Amino acid sequence: KLSRRLTKILEKIPRGSKLADIGSDHALLPVAAVECGAAVQAVAGEVNPGPYDAAVKQVIESGMTDVISVRKGDGLNVLSAGEADVITIAGMGGSLIAAILDRGIEKLAGVRRLVLQPNVGEDILRRWLHSHGWVLIEEWILEEDGKIYEVLVAEPSDATDLTNEQVYKERTIGDGVRLSADWLFRMGPWLTQSPNPVFHDKWKSEMEKMGHILQSLSRSDLPTAADKASEIRSDIEFIQEVLACLP
Ligand code: SAM
Repeated sequence: KLSRRLTKILEKIPRGSKLADIGSDHALLPVAAVECGAAVQAVAGEVNPGPYDAAVKQVIESGMTDVISVRKGDGLNVLSAGEADVITIAGMGGSLIAAILDRGIEKLAGVRRLVLQPNVGEDILRRWLHSHGWVLIEEWILEEDGKIYEVLVAEPSDATDLTNEQVYKERTIGDGVRLSADWLFRMGPWLTQSPNPVFHDKWKSEMEKMGHILQSLSRSDLPTAADKASEIRSDIEFIQEVLACLP
């Protein structure tokens, strides 16, 4: 059975897509996507031999070798131009996902949707999308086995009525807390609009991590430690205010 995380990603693949799943590992997502009709054909890309072998095995066992092509290579290198119209990249850091998109930017022509699931560094990925003509149209946050995951769905700016200006427009929530574009990149422009309990849990846990950093900074002799600590303290205060105003 597909995990809740992969199920959410699967839900965001439009029916009949030509899918490329990069960093596919066991190729669970492309197999499930073809099975349910979300994809009519798929490429599973893997750079590492172990996961590549696992993907090959899975596709053979599923009897889908005619519609799923498993390819070994770095990022979008495994694709030819126009081959995929939906790309999924999941289970890696946001900066690695952004680097994969960046290195293969010419392969994004003709792609009408990206479904991305960064494990960390969501802000880096939102910024990359924003500065490369992709509009975040939806985002999701969910918890599974004690881990929290975000799923970002983006479409090319010429294919959606939404604009990045609207999505990242500074806004005021509650009684006057201003969410700047910078904070929207960090917390998520959609997640802050309709936060669920998992969103609250994520930011409580981020504040805990920041608390640990403050403790180690208080023992540090680095000349920048005091400045860094005051920056973190004001971030914590701000996050507390935001959580207090959100439902
Ligand atoms: N996408 C699957 C998922 O979400 O369940 C697997 C995630 S797994 C944690 C990350 C996979 O990405 C690994 O199998 C790794 O080999 C692969 N990977 C890392 N960097 C890659 C790259 N530059 N190109 C292709 N695959 C990569």
